[in-house]
Amino acid sequence: MSYRKPVTVVEQNANSIEIIPQKVYRYLGLGLSNPDAQLEALVNSSIEEFREVARFRACYRIVPCQASEKGTDLDVLFAPGKNLAKNLSGCDQAILFAATAGLETERQRKRKEIISPSSALVLDAVGTAAIESFCDVLCNTWRKEFTGSFLRPRFSPGYGDLPLEIQGPLLESLDAKQLIGVTLTNAYLMLPQKSVSAIVGIGKTGCIHPEQDCQACNKTNCEFRL
Ligand code: SF4
Repeated sequence: MSYRKPVTVVEQNANSIEIIPQKVYRYLGLGLSNPDAQLEALVNSSIEEFREVARFRACYRIVPCQASEKGTDLDVLFAPGKNLAKNLSGCDQAILFAATAGLETERQRKRKEIISPSSALVLDAVGTAAIESFCDVLCNTWRKEFTGSFLRPRFSPGYGDLPLEIQGPLLESLDAKQLIGVTLTNAYLMLPQKSVSAIVGIGKTGCIHPEQDCQACNKTNCEFRL
C-alpha cells in the first residue's frame, strides 16, 4: 500500500516578505539603468500599497520522484518532457507547491488599471518581485529542513518543454483551489495572477545560490541553470 504525505498549508505575514526595489526595476525592464526620482518614489509607495492587501499563502506536498527519458513520475502526476527530467535527475524526492499573494492583489491591480495604467504596471512588477520573494522564503525553509541535501531550482509549468497544461493536475494534486484559492483560466493561467506553481527536486547535488536566481547567478557552468 503506498503512503502519500498530506498537503501542508503555510501562511506568511506580508511584512516579513522582502520586496526589493532593484528587482522591481528589473521586472519593469530597466536593465542596468537607474530609475528617476519619480519612478523610485512610485515603486516605494507601490510596495507599501501591495503589502497592505497581500496575503501570502502556499500549499505543498513532498512526493517520490523518478526521472526517465519519457518524463518524470511524481507519484501524484506524470510530467512529460526532457527538461524537467534533466533538472530532477538523481533526485528521489520532489516538492510540488503552489504559492499566491492572494485575490486582493488582483482586485487592487484591476482598480489601478482604471485610474492609472502606468501605476498598475509598477504594481504588477511589485507583485512579481513579491511572489518570487515568497517562493525564496519557502525554498529557504525547505533547504533547512532537508539538511545534507540540495534543492534544484524551481521548475514551473510552461518552462522549457514542460507543458503549461500540467498546471491542472499539479494544482489539483495540491487541492490549491480549496486550500489557498488558486484557480486556472481556460488558457491554464493562474488566478490570482500573482501566483506560482512549481516542482523542486531534492538531491545530493543542486543549486548553491542563496536565492536560486539563475539570472543573477554567475555560475555559468552550472548543470541546473534555468
Ligand atoms: S545557475 Fe546559480 S542560481 Fe541557477 S541553479 Fe545553478 S547555482 Fe543555482
